[in-house]
Amino acid sequence: MNVLVINCGSSSLKYQLIDSDSENVLASGLCERIGIDGRFTFKPENGEKYTIDSEMKDHTDAIKIVLDALIDPKTGVIRELSQIGAVGHRVVHGGEKFAKSVVITKEVIKAIEECNDLAPLHNPANLIGIDACQKALPGVPMAAVFDTAFHQTMPKKAYTYGVPDRYYEDYKVRRYGFHGTSHSFVSKRLIELAGLDRNNSKVIVCHLGNGSSITAVKNGESVDTSMGLTPLEGVPMGTRSGNLDPAIIEFIANKENRTISEVMNILNKESGVLGISGGVSSDFRDLDQASSEGNEKAANALDVFAYNVAKVVGGYVAAMNGVDAIAFTAGVGENHLGIRRRIMSYLGYLGVESNEETMGIRGEEVEISTKDSKVKVFVVPTNEELAIARETLALI
Ligand code: AMP
Repeated sequence: MNVLVINCGSSSLKYQLIDSDSENVLASGLCERIGIDGRFTFKPENGEKYTIDSEMKDHTDAIKIVLDALIDPKTGVIRELSQIGAVGHRVVHGGEKFAKSVVITKEVIKAIEECNDLAPLHNPANLIGIDACQKALPGVPMAAVFDTAFHQTMPKKAYTYGVPDRYYEDYKVRRYGFHGTSHSFVSKRLIELAGLDRNNSKVIVCHLGNGSSITAVKNGESVDTSMGLTPLEGVPMGTRSGNLDPAIIEFIANKENRTISEVMNILNKESGVLGISGGVSSDFRDLDQASSEGNEKAANALDVFAYNVAKVVGGYVAAMNGVDAIAFTAGVGENHLGIRRRIMSYLGYLGVESNEETMGIRGEEVEISTKDSKVKVFVVPTNEELAIARETLALI
């Protein structure tokens, strides 16, 4: 069966059509600048990628363009829309309502809407994508796969913030965690690769990309994770600050006569390694380049990032009272040997030993610790779309 995987943002829509038998990606691409002017990219499995300007006034237009491209007689990959057996939607926030992926019904849509205030930028866009697909593909079963669901197994002590209890009671203020589909996919694979028994395993997944989060996974379940109520918490990221003293928000607001939302915007979009490097870049490749040319702020940004990831990993070793294996994944984790090496160098006390022969391998599954390393370390490429397709198939 072919499963269409949809990831909707406020002005963008990413898609993949996956053949669930072979798990091959038949086509992938994205719609950008929805509601502005519109740009469409399409990459068929065995053909040339193309990008065209194409007006998209809303997500319904965008979905129509995707579906037309999939069945285009010349460059398409299927003959007719009936060859799409199911649609899997990535939904960012499921609050406490969703601990698992679900088949989308009217009640599910209502419950997702009720989580909108927890992710005001993302959830409404996800719902628009669901609505647009339901209009374009009536009768096709659809599933919602939540970024937060995998972390719903966290114990209360891990998700409770040190604030008055009424904020949890009244507004559900607590740690939720994100990148759940990735942490679930990668931790499962890590347990296999390291030859562990799931029911007696302690692993840590470092999802390091433009957004970064780290998760402690005990016996196959998330027991703690570094992102919080929102994806702003945790380690410094591409442009997000990660953890800081909450008093800094008022301090900056007073110094610069800014509103809370203006400061929050700075913490989300101008901070992290972009901010620490004095504006060099949020991209680790640019930071490497600048650092090798002697830019000290860029070098510091890389140091701060690696140091903070190592601190979180150390915290999770304490939380689980040990660790059997660690995985690096996502853009930085899969490709950046310097960052991996630096993080691993902090973990010598655990008996982690880097394998310099495999450390340089990028973007593929590989063990980067030595045979004698007490804790196994692997690179495990994440594949959120495939994970969504698998979950969708399992549900329908
Ligand atoms: P993601 O959010 O998972 O797509 O990760 C994106 C980030 O991965 C980019 O901002 C880069 O900093 C980083 N990245 C991607 N490829 C490389 C590479 N070859 N070397 C170092 N960093 C990379």
